Amino acid sequence: MYFDKLNTIVIKIGSSLIIDEKKKIRSKWLDSFVKDIQGFKKAGKRIIIVSSGAIALGCKKLNLDKKNLKIDKSQAVASIGQIELMNLLKKNFSKKKMDISQILITLEDTEVRRRAINARRTLDNLFDIGFIPVVNENDSIATSEIKYGDNDRLASRVAQISNADCLILLSDVGGLYNKNPKVHKDAKLIKEVKKIDENVFKIANKTTGEYGSGGMLTKIEAAKICGLAGCKMVISSGLILNPLKHINLSKECTWFLPEISKLDARKKWIASSVSPKGELMIDNGAIIALKKGKSLLAAGIKNIKGNFDKGDHIKIVDEKNFELGRGLSSFSSEEISKIKGQHSDKINKILGYKTKSEVVHKDDMVGFNCLLYTSPSPRDVEECRMPSSA
Ligand code: GLU
Repeated sequence: MYFDKLNTIVIKIGSSLIIDEKKKIRSKWLDSFVKDIQGFKKAGKRIIIVSSGAIALGCKKLNLDKKNLKIDKSQAVASIGQIELMNLLKKNFSKKKMDISQILITLEDTEVRRRAINARRTLDNLFDIGFIPVVNENDSIATSEIKYGDNDRLASRVAQISNADCLILLSDVGGLYNKNPKVHKDAKLIKEVKKIDENVFKIANKTTGEYGSGGMLTKIEAAKICGLAGCKMVISSGLILNPLKHINLSKECTWFLPEISKLDARKKWIASSVSPKGELMIDNGAIIALKKGKSLLAAGIKNIKGNFDKGDHIKIVDEKNFELGRGLSSFSSEEISKIKGQHSDKINKILGYKTKSEVVHKDDMVGFNCLLYTSPSPRDVEECRMPSSA
């Protein structure tokens, strides 16, 4: 339906599509998937595949049970399984005369701006020579604190960095349902989501436990990241043969269709950070100032959470802890705890050195939905509230 107009497409495939519960490779499926990709390539599209499966294939090789793996062991298992995964994909893509390459990403590669730009350049160079980049998290290096942990959010960040038009999440669920379809016969597939609001998070939250690993919640978080970058996203069942054709033909899937984002590349990157290091709680006066397009000053900061350095990503929340936007802090958390609530004139004296007066400069800040773009009214603030956990 929508594919004709899309140039750059990121496709995420989950482990369960590559290997079944009996640890057998799903060869027939893989073959049909590669055929679909061939169709996309022939149509001139730029494709990135984000593939899970390193840990599952490592477990297969070592005859281990994935459920009982501890993180340190899973790092070694991933290192073994990643070559298995790439060998398998290379064999299948070579058969159809397509070239693939491997990129292993750690959280910092997308969250540090300079590194994100580097990753973008590598992807562009691979497109130029006709290769299909295959991305996975560098599970052998990542530890639990500095880990994406799921390839849904990783894929959305890759989509944002590569300026993709669409992210396709292929997994073992057919889309977002109003109830768990495995439990409720009358569950309805939601075919289009235009706005990711609290209600969408509520539905996902309710069904997550029932859907099993990864879950719907990380997929909605991925949709939110894509949305902020103006990138479409679709969740569809990957278990079906020719899964990409299926999206076009059956339309049995959920599309997330954001409005075109007016943000530039840097602001998109700020808005869709996956790991803000802290939070600044601001008062109503500051909210009104931000809505007029002003920078955030120390005087409007009520509270601070987390340990962060200058330049780190932070969330901006209101007094009820609803997330209003994101930004890059011009001060460390230690400095902000000393200057919060204070007039800008006093900052140099309190800190004992000369420094800027804005805690988050307006050019380093993005408000969700409306904060920075509409005229102030309590209703606007109400409407752009999002759960701070989201
Ligand atoms: N990176 C993990 C792997 O390759 C998968 C994470 C996920 O499935 O979301 O095994």
